[in-house]
Amino acid sequence: MVFVVPLFSKMSDQKLIMNMIKITFPDGSIREYEVGTTPMQIAESISPRLAKEVLAAGVDGEIFDLQRPLFSDASVKLYKWEDPEGKYAYWHSSAHLMAEALEELYPGIKFGIGPAIEQGFYYDVDPGTAIIKEEDLPRIEECMRRLVAKEEPIVRRDISKADALRMFQEKNDEYKVELISELADGTITLYTQGNFTDLCRGPHLPNTGLIKAVKLLNVAGAYWRGDEKRKQLTRIYGITFPKKKMLDEYLQMLEEAKKRDHRKIGKELELFTFSQNVGAGLPLWLPRGTQLRLKLEDFLKRIQKHFGYQQVMSPHIGNKKLYVTSGHYAKYGADSFRPITTPQEGEEFMLKPMNCPHHCEIYKAIPHSYRDLPVRLAEFGTVYRYEQSGELHGLTRVRGFTQDDAHLFCRPDQIKEEFCKVMDIIFIIFKALDFKNFEAQISLRDKVNREKYIGSEENWEKAERAIIEACQEKGLPAVIEYGEAAFYGPKLDFMVKDALGRKWQLGTIQVDYNLPERFELEYTGEDNRKHRPVMIHRAPFGSMERFIAVLIEHTAGKFPLWLTPDQVVILPISERFNEYAYKVARQLNEADIRVQVDDRNEKIGRKIRDNELKRVPYMLIVGEQEEQNEEVSVRKQGEGDRGTVKLTTFAGQICGEVDAMVNAWQADLTETSAE
Ligand SMILES: [Zn+2]
Ligand SMILES: [Zn+2]
Repeated sequence: MVFVVPLFSKMSDQKLIMNMIKITFPDGSIREYEVGTTPMQIAESISPRLAKEVLAAGVDGEIFDLQRPLFSDASVKLYKWEDPEGKYAYWHSSAHLMAEALEELYPGIKFGIGPAIEQGFYYDVDPGTAIIKEEDLPRIEECMRRLVAKEEPIVRRDISKADALRMFQEKNDEYKVELISELADGTITLYTQGNFTDLCRGPHLPNTGLIKAVKLLNVAGAYWRGDEKRKQLTRIYGITFPKKKMLDEYLQMLEEAKKRDHRKIGKELELFTFSQNVGAGLPLWLPRGTQLRLKLEDFLKRIQKHFGYQQVMSPHIGNKKLYVTSGHYAKYGADSFRPITTPQEGEEFMLKPMNCPHHCEIYKAIPHSYRDLPVRLAEFGTVYRYEQSGELHGLTRVRGFTQDDAHLFCRPDQIKEEFCKVMDIIFIIFKALDFKNFEAQISLRDKVNREKYIGSEENWEKAERAIIEACQEKGLPAVIEYGEAAFYGPKLDFMVKDALGRKWQLGTIQVDYNLPERFELEYTGEDNRKHRPVMIHRAPFGSMERFIAVLIEHTAGKFPLWLTPDQVVILPISERFNEYAYKVARQLNEADIRVQVDDRNEKIGRKIRDNELKRVPYMLIVGEQEEQNEEVSVRKQGEGDRGTVKLTTFAGQICGEVDAMVNAWQADLTETSAE
């Protein structure tokens, strides 16, 4: 078929409507371009190098494909690999690439959803009667590489709802049909590359050729839409990189992460366990793990005491009415554990999903004046939240966990100071545990839609400004996210990078105007009238369980001396010296040093190797000479032989070392306050 294009008339038409648009860049500079210019052309106009590296574009806050033309003035940000938005487009395009390969290898395969995730991407697929196993992944990767070599363009197209439905009905893909039926007409787009077309909002890379290094990681089961009652699909995880070297480094990091898996180390070091008899997602702390956790709690308690916190305690359950008052029941009730009922009165109780309502009642029990504020109530409060069994993971996703929780009840003018103080506490903890890389996110209101937030405009303004200023004052690098605040107040979240460069979200500081309202909390002001306090929720660790999991993976189980469950292990070189070994142990124990004796009838070399694996910081080897001179032969983890010293000298050194570690923060604080 031959198309006759009325070339001339079309061009003159175009010329008539041709005009210019203004593009504003992040640095504030403005350039003019012809209407219909694409972000890729903009990148080309800036530099050929940028055009090579750019992956997607932000256009007035929305993410665009590089090939999507712009028809009006806009602010444009060009995203590269270094930007999360760039990676997102890259990995999302990689999910499509994998789907294209799967369709080639498994004709008739149906597709659920295939998003980019924090690291890589996945696609949930229904291969019908075929089964996709780990062994099949290399073959799929191979096919993906073949498609990459074709450098297929990825093309976006608008489609009406009716046409989209028809198309996927013809393909018999009930999953896509279900998704489309929930979309509004006029908002539906398709993306096509080669023979593969997917329902998708985008954005995508301009072509598949940019995906240089491919690795499919594993296969798992996943219920369609996370609903246990619906069909289980096959989820395939993968990751891709623009350079082979980056993939190699990533795979190496994964190997290392496997070795550091807190579930593995937790078992080796006898820290915690799970029992099917107790129930999934309910960790049991073994004596060594309990020791470690209590040390952490004690450390935090001491710091909190310094900062004016008061410890409180509350029960593990609460009347359902309490959570109706707090609003938690309306919001989470349907997805949490069912209420417990009393046999006689038929009263309903809930497992405590959070400590805040209890602390509100504690605040209310005593009248407060403006002079008493802030009131800072702290509790290591255990809470219970339902998680689907498939979502449970070691200590990081559990059904019962203990928050290092505290609620600060303060006046609106005290928010900034309280934020600064909580930040001090968090910095002390990060320093003591050697987390050197951390950043924060400030979550503020949406810039436009402000009806959904409760609390006065004035109070929000004040709180938002207070958080930003507190971060500036403390020199904390923070990104601001608009629209991420909870409806009841702005917040600050902390992210740490562990030794493998992985990011973990830990503590949160959250302003709350809602609960004081719902619980009718009050204080008497200087004017002798009643006022509402502001409530701040804060948990520097988040939960003890999750934090300890992160700590295990960060340190690979080599905890700092002050925290580690066993600080010293004594190795008698033969059974003849067991008695002296126990004598040494008793003396160290008196000095509050945590000590074990390895009195197994094993060769000393074997004992040393085994205890290295247990990551005990100090090994003391005792034999004839040591016994005669009241000495010990010291080996330090990672350093080896440190010679022989008097037992009393060794005890003094260890105590000094621990003391310096747990008290360093006090010296740091005096230093900063003296500045
Ligand atoms: Zn897509
Ligand atoms: Zn709270």
